[in-house]
Amino acid sequence: MTKNNDIERGLKDPARDKSGRIALSGLSLAQLKAFVKSIGEPAFRADQIHSWIYAKWAGSIDEMTNLSADLRKRLNEAACVSALEIATLKVSRDGTRKYLFRLPDGKLVESVLMSFQDRDTLSACVSSQVGCAVGCTFCATGYLGFMRNLTAQEIVDQVLAIQRESGQRISNLVYMGQGEPLLNTENVIESIFTMQQSVGIGGRHITVSTSGIIPGIEQLQKENLSVTLALSLHAPDTKTREEVVPITKKYSIADLMKSLKDYVHTTGRRVTIEYVLLKDVTDRPEQAIELAELVRDIHCNINLIPYNPTYNEDGTALYDRPSREAQWKFKELAERSGKTVTIRLERGTDIEAACGQLHNAFKE
Ligand code: SAH
Ligand code: SF4
Repeated sequence: MTKNNDIERGLKDPARDKSGRIALSGLSLAQLKAFVKSIGEPAFRADQIHSWIYAKWAGSIDEMTNLSADLRKRLNEAACVSALEIATLKVSRDGTRKYLFRLPDGKLVESVLMSFQDRDTLSACVSSQVGCAVGCTFCATGYLGFMRNLTAQEIVDQVLAIQRESGQRISNLVYMGQGEPLLNTENVIESIFTMQQSVGIGGRHITVSTSGIIPGIEQLQKENLSVTLALSLHAPDTKTREEVVPITKKYSIADLMKSLKDYVHTTGRRVTIEYVLLKDVTDRPEQAIELAELVRDIHCNINLIPYNPTYNEDGTALYDRPSREAQWKFKELAERSGKTVTIRLERGTDIEAACGQLHNAFKE
């Protein structure tokens, strides 16, 4: 059951390029309808534009050849395809592509395109905010603080911009770029509707990752979007979690576990527990055992993420990554929970496109 909540929204705060023209990419069909109405065109024009943007990945209005030359001229005056500029693009040895996008207000955000040799799926990792207020101690985005929320359109357009640039269809989507999606829940939910209805990525291929914002989890649960929820747990004990994920002081581990159970119960969806392995901080054997206990009666998978180095101003790494042996030992102990435990495959570390490393945006 998908609620089409954007019909009544109309054209709300569309992105605009520097000359004030409305950007069309990332708008829902209902918003495109509101736009064509505003320039005195019939509603079916919105379907045509929608198809050019979402099915043919058009990069300019001039490509929309089933519109008359006169209409294209008028469209060019009022609108453009995208207000996202690619500021830089880095390609990793493993094929991962990291995009640094410049927003119309000059702010910068990053998105990542990942391919895996053994799967014929392409995954995009999108940002939901510029910066982040949660301040996890191991995360480059957290280090920078919060700047602003992204609009739904800006979130959707990251995926379209990647498809336009790479010429490849994205089949899986993770909200694991910069920002805390569930501190921008309304826009994130609206973006998920457009991902499903226009981009064509099903809820089962979408994962929303959160540091544990309980009201946001509840809101997501109510929308019945069949997306996967990933909780960034990172420590099973309150003392360590309060230290590395400060928002634990607001939303306790016990309340989070209750919230996850509710999510599973209501949606029928298995959740993912993400766990960053920081040497001597979160990788201790007793923590693996405590983790196994904590999640035993939650329908979940566990994904261990070996720490990707982030650096202080003086160039020293903030934490150390545990050895391969320590990672495997932790995995074995965590498997006592009876859950599937995986160690995350690294992508794009040579271009700083790995989890938590998206911060180059702020160096310009
Ligand atoms: N704010 C959300 C989503 C973005 S971060 C969240 O925290 O869940 C996506 C994942 O990368 C999270 O699990 C996050 O904790 C993890 N991460 C952040 N910095 C990291 C780092 N330096 N090394 C490994 N994983 C990191
Ligand atoms: Fe924000 Fe997620 Fe980074 Fe924590 S890990 S600071 S919640 S982006």
